[in-house]
Amino acid sequence: MNHGSRNRIDFPAADRLDRSFIDGLPGIEFRWWEPLARHTTFRVGGPVWCLARPRDEDALESLMKRVRERSIPCVVLGGGSNVLAPDEPWEVLAVQLNLACCGLVVEDLEGGGVQVHAGAGVGLSRLLRCCLRSGLGGLEFLVGIPGSIGGALVMNAGTRDGCMHDVLEWVELMDRGGQRRRLNVSEIPGGYRSMGLPEGWIVLRACLNLRRTPVARSKAAMRDIMKKRRSGQPVECASAGCVFKNPPSLSAGELIDRAGLKGFRVGDAEVSTKHANWIINRGRATASDILCLIRHIEGEVFRMFGVSLEREIRVLESQPGA
Ligand SMILES: Cc1cc2nc3c(=O)[nH]c(=O)nc-3n(C[C@H](O)[C@H](O)[C@H](O)COP(=O)(O)OP(=O)(O)OC[C@H]3O[C@@H](n4cnc5c(N)ncnc54)[C@H](O)[C@@H]3O)c2cc1C
Repeated sequence: MNHGSRNRIDFPAADRLDRSFIDGLPGIEFRWWEPLARHTTFRVGGPVWCLARPRDEDALESLMKRVRERSIPCVVLGGGSNVLAPDEPWEVLAVQLNLACCGLVVEDLEGGGVQVHAGAGVGLSRLLRCCLRSGLGGLEFLVGIPGSIGGALVMNAGTRDGCMHDVLEWVELMDRGGQRRRLNVSEIPGGYRSMGLPEGWIVLRACLNLRRTPVARSKAAMRDIMKKRRSGQPVECASAGCVFKNPPSLSAGELIDRAGLKGFRVGDAEVSTKHANWIINRGRATASDILCLIRHIEGEVFRMFGVSLEREIRVLESQPGA
């Protein structure tokens, strides 16, 4: 299928957002017009006005205060493994927390329980390595899922074997003005691929309930999971994992397969022949190729089976700073 919107839009002649709104704030790394393709697992996404990495939480707080004062459109980016970023230059502030929220502390509780306090910017692979080193189990289901704690919490990442809500004790959040609050798990709905956290708040850290587990048992469970992933998913390709949620008691992948769409392409975006609910970037796909393919799948599955697929991946749009 041909798709005509491959041309990149030119950079704006002048920034509508003034760099001086945030430039010069201490303790923050700024990258102006940074291509988001470098920060997403789909490997697509055009340049963003500013990618900011605060080095600590005080710097994040001053940045967020400025976001509110100046109504700067802002998105938070974790590992970029569940998002589709636009191709066009995007006048938005993207914030990454890998420097500001990178703590990982194991705490033994009276009575034998164990908790891990993990910063939102910590990568899931680092968290799993820490669990193995400390002989902690409960998060094995995360093996093979890329991204950060923050993204995993927002998405309630998981598999049939478990999800983040199952192990959550509390989560600490900051609003787009720098104000903090803590929510206990009893106040958080948790659902299928969405935690139901308050809209627009930034996840700073979470406390997770784990259990002492023999390392060999955790390793064996993780090996099994990875074996299944490698045989049934195109894990070696650029993708964002499953594109659609499974409709109640149905499999999105099976519906897409039965619609005859395995291998169907728009530009370099392809419905994986290994797992029909995965779209892979064959090399030069754009976000608009991927979006066009997503819409085609939605249309075909609805036409053939009367089922409206719900997207699991997030198509990024700016959110108001105020
Ligand atoms: C190969 C592969 C396999 C995958 N397998 C699975 C799987 O088995 N199960 C599963 O659930 N998912 C899976 N995924 C999807 C994805 O990895 C998870 O959803 C992951 O938890 C997303 O984390 P992230 O840090 O990359 O989030 P991002 O993609 O960066 O962000 C996701 C959303 O969370 C928001 N966000 C991120 N960090 C914060 C924060 N600190 N505060 C507020 N908002 C934030 C973003 O704005 C965005 O809306 C897979 C993806 C790939 C590429």
